Amino acid sequence: LPKRLQGSTPSVWNEYIALAMQYKPLNLGQGFPDDAAPEYVTNALADIAKDENPLLHQYTRGNGHVRLVNALSKLYSGLVGKDLNPLSDILITSGAYEALYSTIMGHVDEGEEVIIIEPFFDCYEPMVKMARGVPRFIPLKLRKKDGPISSADWVLNDLELEKLFNEKTKMIILNTPHNPTGKVFHRQELERIAALCRKWNVLCVSDEVYEWLVFDGVEHVRICTLPGMWDRTITIGSAGKTFSVTGWKIGWAYGPHRLIRNLQMVHQNSVYTCPTPLQEGVARSFEVELARMGKPESYFLTLPRELQPKRDFMAKFLSDAGMRPTIPEGGYFMLADWSPLAPKLDLSSELDKHRDYKFTKWMTKNMGLQGIPPSAFYSEPNKHLAEDFVRYCFIKKQGNLDKAAELLKIWS
Ligand code: PMP
Ligand code: GLN
Repeated sequence: LPKRLQGSTPSVWNEYIALAMQYKPLNLGQGFPDDAAPEYVTNALADIAKDENPLLHQYTRGNGHVRLVNALSKLYSGLVGKDLNPLSDILITSGAYEALYSTIMGHVDEGEEVIIIEPFFDCYEPMVKMARGVPRFIPLKLRKKDGPISSADWVLNDLELEKLFNEKTKMIILNTPHNPTGKVFHRQELERIAALCRKWNVLCVSDEVYEWLVFDGVEHVRICTLPGMWDRTITIGSAGKTFSVTGWKIGWAYGPHRLIRNLQMVHQNSVYTCPTPLQEGVARSFEVELARMGKPESYFLTLPRELQPKRDFMAKFLSDAGMRPTIPEGGYFMLADWSPLAPKLDLSSELDKHRDYKFTKWMTKNMGLQGIPPSAFYSEPNKHLAEDFVRYCFIKKQGNLDKAAELLKIWS
């Protein structure tokens, strides 16, 4: 095994998808919608399959299909108040996953430090290690224990964050809205991060795949729009999350060309180009949305509007069963503290090291309900912080959420 792969283990996704295939639970684990994507999105792909232009089935431009980068440039130029050059400031990738990979591989050198906020989307850590960089972790901490808990109650300690920055720091990876807490970083919090990035000349990678999924009127602030941040920020998005088509695996990164060209080099040397029909389909879908931005029928508004009652429904059935959910301000996941249930459970049949793994596996096998163990989103020394929690996904058909509520009734 080459050194860069030593210590890498199969991800929680590979493990829990296999578990779901074996036990066939009601799956509230991996994050994807189980309902139909918008019709105009899937129809676009059907139209493309039948389109008389044969070139829609051949290779397209390596750094991104022109119709798609044009649509993204229109969208984000408006949102960030900069004129994005579609050919140089945007890269289309194989999901946000590859955008993260190309960003990290394209910038981090051996021994350079990358600040990662815990819990974190699990691939950040192994990607930094693949680049021979050094991940430095800082956990979000829950600032209250009683009463209803909001994702806004998961906060960074300013002093701790400040102490992590030093001359070896290359980048910080931010994720807002956040997976798995649902935290939407508020402007003030982003300003503190931005000030440290400017002070230490650090790059900011902003993973914003859930950018349209915000609730309760909370604003999604793009850190690249804060003073002095455009030139040091790479922002990442996902068509899978934007249009509820996670299987399409089309993502992107945008930012100043000086940074994006480094990603383009990694992309050229690994993936080279993404599927043409899918990029064309995402482009056509964005064109539909660009024409109705801000209008009530915009999918970017209807989706969170439809999702919010599901969030509240889940929070209620988890609370009724005795768990303590964190109400997310964004995204489509909910963390819940399941420890109040512990006295009622015998998890001794499960041999995993961490209690959240035992709980989620036991639940899959014995209750037919799957969640994700959030310690997968922590570095080894901090995994204990997550053992009382489970992550459930609520972008599911109401009927499936009803079934989950029914299953948990034995504890209410
Ligand atoms: N970042 C975060 C925070 C995610 O939750 C995910 C999973 N969708 C990704 C990146 C990867 O997105 P994609 O499916 O577009 O590769
Ligand atoms: N982002 C999704 C989640 O957190 C999917 C993760 C994955 O499949 N890698 O569940």
